[in-house]
This record gives sequence, structure tokens and C-alpha cells, in this order.
Amino acid sequence: MQKNTPFENYVTRLIRTKDILGYTDNDIEFLKTPQNVIDDTISITRDSGEQAPYKAYRVQFNNMRGPYKGGIRFHPDADIDEVKALAAAMTIKCAVVDIPFGGAKGGVQFNPKTASKKEIQDISRAWARLMAPHIGAHKDIPAPDVYTNGQIMGYILDEYEKITGVSEPGLITGKPLAIGGSLGRDRATAQGGVYVLQTLVKELGRDTEKLRVSIQGFGNAGYTLAILLHDKGYRIVGASDSRGGIYAKDGFDPREVMKIKEEKGSVVDYTAPGIEILSNEAIIGSECDILVPAALDNQIRADNADTVKAYIILELANGPTTPDADQILESRKIIVVPDVISNAGGVTVSYFEWVQNISSFYWTENEVFEKLEPIMVHAFEAIWKMSTAKQISLRDASFAIAVQRIIEAAKARGVLELN
Ligand code: NAD
Repeated sequence: MQKNTPFENYVTRLIRTKDILGYTDNDIEFLKTPQNVIDDTISITRDSGEQAPYKAYRVQFNNMRGPYKGGIRFHPDADIDEVKALAAAMTIKCAVVDIPFGGAKGGVQFNPKTASKKEIQDISRAWARLMAPHIGAHKDIPAPDVYTNGQIMGYILDEYEKITGVSEPGLITGKPLAIGGSLGRDRATAQGGVYVLQTLVKELGRDTEKLRVSIQGFGNAGYTLAILLHDKGYRIVGASDSRGGIYAKDGFDPREVMKIKEEKGSVVDYTAPGIEILSNEAIIGSECDILVPAALDNQIRADNADTVKAYIILELANGPTTPDADQILESRKIIVVPDVISNAGGVTVSYFEWVQNISSFYWTENEVFEKLEPIMVHAFEAIWKMSTAKQISLRDASFAIAVQRIIEAAKARGVLELN
């Protein structure tokens, strides 16, 4: 079976909105193509003295609703098709939560795990020099993504400001607090997911105390979600990382599991009465009410969607479910809360960071979460309402709401013709 590319998956989902909303091919065509693609090479002198070139990208997908916004990944497999799909997904995500940004994504085809700190800094600065004419607080705002972090955002900001000679902290988000980062950023993605899940559970009239949760991926997003849900009375029954998973039908304390993971390297090193070891694959089919993919893309596919026992899937990872799997899950009446809303707490707090930067006025952590909750709850309620009214999946409803907002903006600008 040939695997669809991530961009083909995006287009499949986009086309489905045409029938839901009654749009023309022309309207939809507009969202099939990025507005600007920078596909170039940067080079640095490695510690060995050798000159090394790397592919460097920025895809500026759409800016009808505001400046382009999206992360930068450093990954040996980062390729332009993947970056394009991620840039499109950012456009949808920002529109779903109704924040005034478009969508973009960037990358460097490079493995930071085999590089020194100096080489990572040199690559970051070279990326900033290449992109300087294209980015800016009111143009395109990068952020961290896979294998990039706050420190790398600091290098990029510094190099950019050296070129322009102007202080511009709103250029980039996910920065360290010392240079204008926002409080609450570390918890934002998981906390946003919790607000969405709580709203769904309320809609379904379920009691959180009894709900069992399995989480694939026990990193920043997955582990933080585990502790937030555990503290709210959910039972965390499964967790996995790249080495495998654990399961306990009566649940476990995620903090205890993390202590062992930090000491010994993996959740599978955690031992306690009632704990079973699971394979990576088995976590997907583990006995639970809520399955949370929080690791990689393409984890729930046509070949394993039948094994899912959960009745809610909360997608904290980007792109964990393929369109084929979506169809199987839909026919099995499993509720999939798509990534574009489940993990949008991250970009929403990035937006808050930008607002604080451009107003030079900083908020407390409480203020950040007080502002995050209504955004996530209202966005999810609108999706739920459309999904129920039109009898469509939450993913189709999310895409439809986002596409409607983007097309409305394009028509308001005269970029697309009014019907
Ligand atoms: P992370 O690197 O902190 O954690 C990833 C976890 O997944 C690690 O525990 C790793 O061991 C585990 N993992 C890797 N391969 C696995 C496998 N085959 N099976 C099970 N576990 C595996 O990354 P993160 O920041 O938590 O991001 C996780 C996902 O969430 C990614 O898809 C990311 O794009 C998405 N996301 C994260 C944020 C954020 O703010 N952190 C925001 C939006 C989306």
C-alpha cells in the first residue's frame, strides 16, 4: 500500500470542506498552493574545518488573516513536501482558534544530535541571515518545532536584530523568558488539550473520575497532559515512549513513572504491582476510554485503526491519524478530536507571547491561562456544534470552520472574488 504524502493528506481533507460549505473549485484551489516558498542552501564551517551545506526551507502558506506563523525544525529528514504540509496545517490551526495569524513552517535538513553547540548556533544564525528579508514581527513569526528550542530562537532573534539594528522581540516566539518569552508556554499545549477534553466530556455528560487514559509519547506534551489529567481525577492507565509502553488497569501516578524514566531512560523501566509491559504498537489498542497520540505522525493507520478500544482520541501530536484510519474510526463512531484544535494551545500561547512583545507589557502565568481557556473552549464548542448540526466528523468541522474564515478574509481583501 502506497503511503500518501502529508501534503496529499491535507488536500484530501481540504476537498471535503468544499461539499460541506458549498465552495467553488476556485476557492479551494487557493488553499492548495503556498503563497511563497524559500528553498535554498545554507552552509557553515563544521568543527572539523570542513565546509558543510544544508538545505534550508521556509514555506509561507497563507497570510490572509495575519502574519505567517509557524515553527522551524532541524531534522535530517526535513523535506519540502513535509514542510509544506505543516505550513498548511498551521494556517488551518490558527484559523480554527481564531487568532490573527496565517500559517508557515520552516526547516533545515540537518541532525542537531550529531552537532556541537557551536555548529547548532552557526546553523541557526545562517538560517536567520537567509530568511531575514522574509520574516518579521508583522510578516512571518517563527517558533520552535522538532529538535529546535528556546535557545535556538534566541540565536535567530539576535542575528536578525544585528541585521536590522532594531529591537524586535515579536519576531519569534518560544523564546527564553529573559528575552521576552511568555510564562505558561511549557504547559500551553497540554493545558489547551485539557480544556478541549473537559469541554467534550461535559458535552457527552461523562464523569471524568471514571475515564481511563492511554498516552503514546511521554515527552513535553504527553507527560504534561498526563499530570494535568491525573490531578483532575482521570486514571492514567497507559504510557509509552520510543522504547515501549506500560499499562496498569487501575492506573499509575505519572510523576512516579517520570522519576524512573529520568533515572533509567524509559517508562518501561518503571516496575510496580499491576504494571504490564506493552509494545509500541499495543498502546494504540490498549483498553482505555481516551487515547492520546502525543509522539509522531501516522501512528493510527488503516492497519491498526480496528484495534482502537478508546471512544475518544485526543490528537496532541501533529498528524497522528491517516485519512484512511479516519474513515474506519468514523464508521466505528470513535470521536477523534483533531490536532488542529487539541494541540492549538501551543500556538495560542505563542500568540500571547507576540501580543506581550508588541505591547511591551507582560502577563502573569494566571493571566495567560485565564485567557487561554475561553479561546480553546469557544473554538471547540463551535466545532462541536457544526459537527453535530451537519453530522460530520470533528476534523471535517474544524477544517470547514477554518477554511470559511480564511476564504472570508481573502474575499474581504478582494484576493478571491465574492460569489
Ligand atoms: P518530545 O520530544 O518532548 O516527546 C516525544 C515523545 O515521544 C518522547 O517521549 C519520545 O520518546 C516519544 N516517542 C518517540 N517515538 C515514539 C514511538 N514510536 N512510540 C511511542 N513514543 C515515541 O516532543 P513533544 O514536544 O512532546 O511533541 C510531541 C508531539 O506533539 C509532536 O507531534 C509535536 O509536533 C506535537 N506538538 C507539540 C507541541 C508542544 O508544544 N510541545 C505543540 C504542538 C504539537
